[in-house]
Amino acid sequence: MECIFCKIANGEIKSDVVFKDEKIVIFKDLNPEAPTHLLAIPKEHIESAEKITSINSAIVAHIFEKISELKNDLKLQEGFRVVTNCGEAAGQTVKHLHFHILSGRKLDWPPG
Ligand code: AMP
Ligand code: ZN
Repeated sequence: MECIFCKIANGEIKSDVVFKDEKIVIFKDLNPEAPTHLLAIPKEHIESAEKITSINSAIVAHIFEKISELKNDLKLQEGFRVVTNCGEAAGQTVKHLHFHILSGRKLDWPPG
């Protein structure tokens, strides 16, 4: 399977991992858009947010629970944004569900 985030999840490709458990990995984005820019991914390959169903949606809750639990360790105390791009028009370049976690600067709204 030629999926770069599957390879990060199974350790085939090195990344700067800040948290992992049996279900998810959180690692530093290679091209940070903010002082803190992390990506949270399920280890399971799910293509994008539009592929979330009642069968696999528990992983989304798990990711958000961990973000909340790790808020201090991940340096998110002053506020943060979690965003997922779904589809090319929304800017999705990697077709493995991922949540950007951005923090450490004033974040504009709405995003471009
Ligand atoms: P998106 O454009 O929403 O699909 O986000 C993909 C993100 O993955 C971008 O912010 C990239 O900088 C990031 N990225 C791509 N390859 C890697 C990698 N090997 N390690 C860490 N981040 C990556
Ligand atoms: Zn994948």
